[in-house]
Amino acid sequence: MSAQVNTDLLRKIPAVHRLLDAPPSQRLIQLYSHDLVSEAVAHIISEVRGQILSGERTNEVSEQELLEQAERYLLHQFRANFRRVINATGVVLHTNLGRAPLAETALEAINRTAQGYSNLELNLSTGERGSRYDHVEELICKLTGAEAALVVNNNAAAVLLVLREMAKGRKVIVSRGQLVEIGGSFRVSEVMKESGATLVEVGTTNKTHESDYENAIEEDTALIMKAHTSNFRIVGFTYQPELADLTALAHRSGVPVYEDLGSGSLIDLRKFGIGDEPTVGESLKAGVDIVSFSGDKLLGGTQAGIIAGKAEYIKRIKKNQLTRALRVDKLTLAALEATLLLYLDEERALREVPTLYLLTRKKDELYSEAQRLSEGLKAVFQDKAVVEVVEGMSQVGGGSLPTEDLPTCLVAVRTTPFSLNALEHALRHVDLPVMTTIRKEALMFDVRTIFPREIEECIHSVREACRRLG
Ligand SMILES: *Cc1c(COP(=O)(O)O)cnc(C)c1O
Repeated sequence: MSAQVNTDLLRKIPAVHRLLDAPPSQRLIQLYSHDLVSEAVAHIISEVRGQILSGERTNEVSEQELLEQAERYLLHQFRANFRRVINATGVVLHTNLGRAPLAETALEAINRTAQGYSNLELNLSTGERGSRYDHVEELICKLTGAEAALVVNNNAAAVLLVLREMAKGRKVIVSRGQLVEIGGSFRVSEVMKESGATLVEVGTTNKTHESDYENAIEEDTALIMKAHTSNFRIVGFTYQPELADLTALAHRSGVPVYEDLGSGSLIDLRKFGIGDEPTVGESLKAGVDIVSFSGDKLLGGTQAGIIAGKAEYIKRIKKNQLTRALRVDKLTLAALEATLLLYLDEERALREVPTLYLLTRKKDELYSEAQRLSEGLKAVFQDKAVVEVVEGMSQVGGGSLPTEDLPTCLVAVRTTPFSLNALEHALRHVDLPVMTTIRKEALMFDVRTIFPREIEECIHSVREACRRLG
């Protein structure tokens, strides 16, 4: 390449001011402002200049091409990084994908209360200062049978707060079979240290007996803690006392029992053949003094930590200094209240809380949705890939019910014109990303976690991904 050609091409690049004066720029300037368009055009011009100098570009650049590139640059800069994606993984409570999708009424509640001012900390009947915690307390009590309740930022915060108030500088007894680590470096033993309580381990990994707990109780024992083994199961030669027996022996020594439920379901999912977990209400009925659970796991609401139980303890916890630092935000409260209201009618909760709907979808519904997706994808790939409906298993996820697999239908795409990895990658880079998995040499779309309204969008995203791959 001769230096002569380079100089020629460089000279032919339009000047920034000329591009800005061109009629097609006026639309962009109206959208973004003169300064932003000017900056974008300058950026693109310097890129083109670099391409010419390196010999990467050997043809002249048109005014139109520069403006198109500047527009794409502006679109990209102003596109939110935090976006909606379609979950085709089949993991219902996918922590990386934001866990529970919210119910329609929860979204409305956020809109209603956040658009203007609200009575967040105002008692409307007296006109005096109120507490943000009051809005949902009665509702939680009604749904769980607790005497009192409190909501904080998340369940990790709830565990820390309960231990800090109830056991700082004293001992907490925990079975060795329950020293769990939840994702994101949350370990019971670490949180215990952080709270200032001393961990007393009892029993063995597989078996802890009543007598193990009983023998460990001392003068300065503050609490017996039961932690839900959310993300693993010990099976085989195992033993843990019945909850009612554990609370009875603790109470004989005047020691309260705290159960970190993790997910904490408000309705009995065993009816649907899902899991073997007692509900929050059942734990409290068995005599547990304090429970805590997440707002965005099986409950299907926003990220939050709910602490419920005996009034005397909840009252103390509310007064702890740490509560202020862990306090729940108004958007969360709005969505949580709306979600909890749905649970007043179990049928309605099953229909309208998205997590419950996804978990309890029927096989024939999943099959017809998979058919619909499969037809759409066949049209996209034409005869260049094998697209078929297959059976498989979805997961509950989110550290809830680790051993529960839910029978589902998937659309498997095989022998595509591009590698499966390239397709999976491209699907993450389209305007509405689709999260898929590669298994058994196929790109899998589990329809359980794709809402019916998303099937068309999913097909559209696949079409766009294929177009990008060429
Ligand atoms: C998920 C979980 C937590 C953490 O709850 P977050 O709401 O994610 O903070 C704590 N303990 C157990 C047993 C859990 O399963």
